[in-house]
Amino acid sequence: MVFWLFRSWRRRRLIRRPFPGHWRKILEDRLPFYNKLEDEERDSFHTHLKVFLWEKHWEGAGGLEVTEEMKVIISAAAARIARALPLSVYDRLRELVIYPSHYFHPGKEDTVVMGQAHHFGTLVLSWDAVQKGIAIPDDARDTAIHEFAHVLDAADGVFDGTPLLEKGRDYPIWAEVMGQHFAELQQAPFRGCLRAYGAKNEAEFFAVATEAFFETPQQLQNCAPDLYDVLADYFGVEPV
Ligand SMILES: [Zn+2]
Repeated sequence: MVFWLFRSWRRRRLIRRPFPGHWRKILEDRLPFYNKLEDEERDSFHTHLKVFLWEKHWEGAGGLEVTEEMKVIISAAAARIARALPLSVYDRLRELVIYPSHYFHPGKEDTVVMGQAHHFGTLVLSWDAVQKGIAIPDDARDTAIHEFAHVLDAADGVFDGTPLLEKGRDYPIWAEVMGQHFAELQQAPFRGCLRAYGAKNEAEFFAVATEAFFETPQQLQNCAPDLYDVLADYFGVEPV
């Protein structure tokens, strides 16, 4: 309770601080979606981005020093997908650990992981993978978006492909539409408009669908309009 009060007081101050002009320049130069945001959306995107960047603890690993530009680009992915959601959606996440390239999962030295959302408030990302994600903005592959979708998924305490929805009555339709497309992807992983990796489990399905929703929204709407609608409803945005 005390921690929450402190955070909300500090957060109100952060929200009032102006958005730094040189961040705007980084966004304009590196992230094409930024230039397409409408004024109102841009305001909430800015608020999400600055609160995220200033509140989280950033840590470089594997010899990497985290620069301000890295923070802006990574925070932009978090803000992009959550710009219409409450600021509290990322409250469980405390820390971001950034490696230069692929990293080895502790205890599983043979497994290369590009990024991983941990349940305990730490997100591990590879800067290489983040940059690959933004290099081609319309291929439905973006590691940062993927991992932040996992963070949203786990915001309700359960990592199961279902984030915290606004209303109780949203859950049955979510379960029906997501469940149906997940089953279809499992049966025919290379036929639809979603990456086959989404067939792994419900959590990966949500993360893969989120990548498609933001990077290839038109294709997603064409091939799975009900899935597009459910995601548009949850994220509160219309990327088409
Ligand atoms: Zn994943």
